[in-house]
Amino acid sequence: MKISVILGHPNKGSLNHAIADITVQTLQNNGYSVSFHDLYEEGFDPVLPCEKVMSGLIDLHVHTTASDGTMTPEQVVFHAAQCGLQAIAVTDHDTIDGVEEALAAGVKAGVEVVPGVEISVDYMGEMHILGYFIEPQNPELQGGLAKLRHYRNERNPQIIKKLRDLRFDISIDEVSKAANGNVIGRPHFAAVLKQKGYVRDFNQAFDWYLGEGRPAYVKKERLTPRQGIEMIAAAGGIPVLAHPKYLKVNDSTGLEELIRELKGYGLKGIEALYTTHSSGETGKFCDLALKCELLITGGSDFHGSNKPEIEIGRGEGGLTVQYELLERLKVKR
Ligand SMILES: [Zn+2]
Ligand SMILES: [Zn+2]
Repeated sequence: MKISVILGHPNKGSLNHAIADITVQTLQNNGYSVSFHDLYEEGFDPVLPCEKVMSGLIDLHVHTTASDGTMTPEQVVFHAAQCGLQAIAVTDHDTIDGVEEALAAGVKAGVEVVPGVEISVDYMGEMHILGYFIEPQNPELQGGLAKLRHYRNERNPQIIKKLRDLRFDISIDEVSKAANGNVIGRPHFAAVLKQKGYVRDFNQAFDWYLGEGRPAYVKKERLTPRQGIEMIAAAGGIPVLAHPKYLKVNDSTGLEELIRELKGYGLKGIEALYTTHSSGETGKFCDLALKCELLITGGSDFHGSNKPEIEIGRGEGGLTVQYELLERLKVKR
């Protein structure tokens, strides 16, 4: 078997890749296995298995003001253009409200925009499912997202009630002001508590009141992973597991089992390239994707100044996502 990988050496910078055709035999003769993880451990940076020369850079995980980003969809697209990106996917939390504006801006800015979404589903710890190339007008998708909105709209007044029962002077108007037009979430409750001097900081607001098991906690109704994946697929989208690092499944057998289960529901890819994945983790998730015959995708999780350390397309500096990955995604449409 012959495989092709893009090899980059960390000391030479992430853009300075050489393309190497490597046979399993050659790797083994040189002391390598074909494991991406092992290649990373040896100091190489195999970005993706690749048959073609690499092209432009992209970012398949970007938030706008439609959820909790700080740039409007149009601003995000023009920012991506300025940063030299060839394509981005707009993937707001549980909403497609920013998609149309981003698509229109993409035409003006000369950036390819992929209509997307990031759906939170119920799983111990966090599980987010990205959906690419969804049809924004699809009734099943719109119905599912409306249900999520309804869950959230019910939850916020319940949190207010609990906080008021705890004798805090807080109103939903103050919280929505803190949200500044974004979808209201617990961080905005925390911001008001801090602003009014009830807590020292954001973490204390969660540790004392808003976190799971704390007195102002209200469980969030969520879709199951299966429902999330099926909803994306029903809207013509490609479901991809976001940032597998945050799944809190530590053993690789458990992770593989989970991913195979999700694949059974229709999962098509894994976001192996992600801002906070270490090179070892990236290698591990690429390996897993190849083993389970899933696509590899990548993105920064850009949120504008809400997460100032993350730059679009570059994450915290070390991220590179090749256009090639998007081409592979398109084939699965
Ligand atoms: Zn996420
Ligand atoms: Zn995200």
